[in-house]
Amino acid sequence: MREEHGFLLFEKNDFGPWLAEQEINRKKKIIQNHHTWKPDYADFNGNNHFELLQSMRDHHVNNRGWDDIGQHVTTFPDGKIAACRSLKKDPACIRGHNIGAICIENLGNFDINKDQMKAEHKEAIIHANAILCKKFHIKPTLDTICYHHWFASKTCPGTDFFGGNTKQDAEEKIIPLIVAEIGILGLET
Ligand SMILES: [Zn+2]
Repeated sequence: MREEHGFLLFEKNDFGPWLAEQEINRKKKIIQNHHTWKPDYADFNGNNHFELLQSMRDHHVNNRGWDDIGQHVTTFPDGKIAACRSLKKDPACIRGHNIGAICIENLGNFDINKDQMKAEHKEAIIHANAILCKKFHIKPTLDTICYHHWFASKTCPGTDFFGGNTKQDAEEKIIPLIVAEIGILGLET
């Protein structure tokens, strides 16, 4: 794990053990998945995780007027996972739908014909969702794993995010993968 500017950057498998030790009394009921859209894969050079996180925080604080970076967790194309905003706070990610939520921003633009999600990134996204389900006793369903698109006129997390951004896409594609990951890890939710 590396720490810079208040961000913690983990190898995929180190995120769970860290999260397990955090005392977070705030109840969380729903996990949001987003794509950053910009920055996208072309902005990631393999080493600039912290620079990208800082620029997102600067944008959220200075241009949006939020108190910190909006998202709790950021996943990267190389499969690394960053802890960002304190999980003791609600996120600033979907207007009107942040209470009791956990926000994951997945770095890239996953609209059709934009960034092709790398295999290690896919694994990190599924893993992060599964680990958060375990921590907050969330059973993955359409009521607990959501996409920004369902609440706003945005394509986020992308029209090709795990094959599509509709509720049916989520139900058929990402939720079974999260359920399977929870099973593989032997987690209980
Ligand atoms: Zn979004």
